[in-house]
Amino acid sequence: MAKLELDHLSKRYGDFHAVRDVTLDVAEGEFLVLLGPSGCGKTTTLRMIAGFVEPTGGAVRVGGSDVTWQPPWKRNTGLVFQSYALFPHLTVNQNVAFGLEMRKCSPGEVAQRTAEALRLVRLEHLGERLPRQLSGGQQQRVALARALVFRPDVLLLDEPLSNLDAKLRHEVRVEIRELQRQLGLTTVMVTHDQEEALTMADRLVVMSEGAVRQAGTQRDLYERPADRFVADFVGRSTFIEGRVESPGMFRTVGGLAMRCNGGAVGAASLAIRPERISISPTPLVGVDNSLEGTVEFVSYLGAQIDIHIRISPRERLIAQIANRAGDFTPLVGDGVHVGWASSDARVFEDGAEAS
Ligand code: ATP
Repeated sequence: MAKLELDHLSKRYGDFHAVRDVTLDVAEGEFLVLLGPSGCGKTTTLRMIAGFVEPTGGAVRVGGSDVTWQPPWKRNTGLVFQSYALFPHLTVNQNVAFGLEMRKCSPGEVAQRTAEALRLVRLEHLGERLPRQLSGGQQQRVALARALVFRPDVLLLDEPLSNLDAKLRHEVRVEIRELQRQLGLTTVMVTHDQEEALTMADRLVVMSEGAVRQAGTQRDLYERPADRFVADFVGRSTFIEGRVESPGMFRTVGGLAMRCNGGAVGAASLAIRPERISISPTPLVGVDNSLEGTVEFVSYLGAQIDIHIRISPRERLIAQIANRAGDFTPLVGDGVHVGWASSDARVFEDGAEAS
């Protein structure tokens, strides 16, 4: 394992900036996730780390050594592709051994390291099978073994779980994370699935349009999003458009007054997380904001229930309540009271955080 540094890394295709000036440090043993919408430059960043795409600017350092211009096979990074990219006509053993044979390791070393990698992913008993004789989850583990067989300094995972069904994905997430911890592997994973990112990462990097919008822990991104994009992409928020009328007072486009923390006077939006909104059949007392509304839609999600509440002709809030026996659960058409603390809403002006 080794520290990984990206230093002002950029990639341009003609006039198009696929990756803009990305600077990140990944500590030894850290699990970093690059998260962002399709086309934001995550895969290009990962491929520059692996050496499959040449940067047009900046540097990649592994363990302090500049590897920017080294070919992939000299970097000692292990890359797991979304498609697994297994050789269909080779057995599991041969798939895992292939890269070592290319590197001219001795037959004894190839056999020993192949067995070790398959043991790590618990597939030692399936070495003679062909990929088509394996389940999706098992194929994914062969792909992982093929990366681990090099004992990589840095493990790179490109949407490794996106071909698995939901239940298997949950299991494999935990398996990968436990293995990564056990081996102390410095890891960078790319995903557009925020739940996957939040579950697996030590630290997350949210990207859009080729650039890093914010890097931090789950709590940092959720509680202190740097801008409206991050607030929208990580977790859910209701955004209410309007303006900060005077310090601490927000006026919605629909004319409602709401107390808020911070924000310069002027056009802004107010973001509120659904689980921070209290909902009650009777007026809420002792909260900074208390409004009346009408339930327009109820969405039953099992552990939680989403309640869509009309608070003005122009505005609707989403509140999320836990599905607990005996708790108040409103029905469509009910009049309700909603409330939240000023500190639970964030003000964004011109796309940047203002509070
Ligand atoms: P996804 O989640 O869909 O894989 P991503 O965030 O990984 O998306 P990238 O694959 O890194 O995005 O692509 C970033 C941008 O660079 C995209 O707009 C893509 O079309 C563009 N791009 C990637 N490779 C090339 C190429 N070889 N030539 C031109 N443009 C490219």
